[in-house]
Amino acid sequence: MEIFRSLSEHDHEEVFFMNDNRLGLKAIVAIHNTILGPALGGCRMWTFASEEEALRDALRLSRGMTYKAAVAGLNLGGGKAVIIGDPKKDKSEALFRAYGRFVQGLGGRYITAEDMGTSVRDMEWVRMETQYVTGISRALGGSGDPSPVTALGVYHGMKACAREVFGRDSLSGLTVAIQGVGHVGYPLAQHLHAEGCRLVVADIDRENLDRAARDLGAEVVEGEAVFDVACDLFAPCARGGLLNDKTIPRLRCKIVAGAANNQLEDEARHGAELLKRGILYAPDYVINSGGLINVANELEGYNQERALKQATGIYDILARVLAISKEERIPTHVASDKLAVKRIQELGRVKQTYTGWSEGTFHRRRQLDS
Ligand code: NAD
Repeated sequence: MEIFRSLSEHDHEEVFFMNDNRLGLKAIVAIHNTILGPALGGCRMWTFASEEEALRDALRLSRGMTYKAAVAGLNLGGGKAVIIGDPKKDKSEALFRAYGRFVQGLGGRYITAEDMGTSVRDMEWVRMETQYVTGISRALGGSGDPSPVTALGVYHGMKACAREVFGRDSLSGLTVAIQGVGHVGYPLAQHLHAEGCRLVVADIDRENLDRAARDLGAEVVEGEAVFDVACDLFAPCARGGLLNDKTIPRLRCKIVAGAANNQLEDEARHGAELLKRGILYAPDYVINSGGLINVANELEGYNQERALKQATGIYDILARVLAISKEERIPTHVASDKLAVKRIQELGRVKQTYTGWSEGTFHRRRQLDS
């Protein structure tokens, strides 16, 4: 792999590698862009098939974080870390503390968090070595589980979509099909139930399904049948890649708006296909940015009320994305990328340097880019 060519392809700023033979730690941190602020993004632990695949993932995901933070109006850049290893077998306190020292050595240019394969407990080990970590438990002064904030953001994002399609904010009386009623899907279903929606849910976890049926009167469908449900909104809240050649022709909804990451299997093709079919797609990284808003709040000294209030603002952000999409006749996910790039370019002359923490606050010092 030609590393510099890969970096210049999407204008990545920096990549760092860490190796510790004794602990078996091999980690990569990719920093895509820090114009808006320090690069924040989770640390993924995975048995990557090759070092190249690990680096590619770090580069791709760090870039995604730049766009997500920019659209959400946060003063954060995009970064991502990967640890090459088996999350079921290779975890230890020593490994995560060594990773924490690595992050500390980057001096605040990258702030880590949990992601696929890592947990709050792992980040608490990381925190023993560095202050540049978020997603810590509430008991330790962190922001805890982001899911209720993500769910509230999705709920308000759905309202922006409903205004566009049905001419009203209220979701009352609409039918919403939800795939996955877990940490985000369930509190989302609670908001929708309270507003008077008819709910149809699917989940591979029987307990989660039963809870939604029992407590919220949701109708249950089995597995893949959720793609065939005639509904107003379809909310993917389980896995990524679910909007693809096989599933899109089955959809009988007007709006796709849910929390899952990377919903479009092929961004360009499947985003365009939804537009062609007259289905409004709420770009995943915009509507699910409540989770990032939550951890960003941790950097300023966590206050859940403030985080929840900020998440309601996803309504306005999505409304702007939908307006651009309509005006320029472009798919919504392209419109959101445009909005992100515009914000970064507007601030492009200003680089920020980070002087570190004191009393729980992250201090920024703005400097003119020379
Ligand atoms: P979760 O694991 O708590 O919930 C996912 C639910 O989906 C589970 O109940 C699971 O059984 C179910 N599920 C898995 N595969 C399924 C399938 N094929 N069909 C039907 N149900 C299936 O996860 P979560 O935290 O609620 O996150 C859901 C999605 O939202 C993920 O894609 C995640 O990356 C994304 N997301 C979450 C947050 C957050 O704050 N938790 C933030 C942003 C994005």
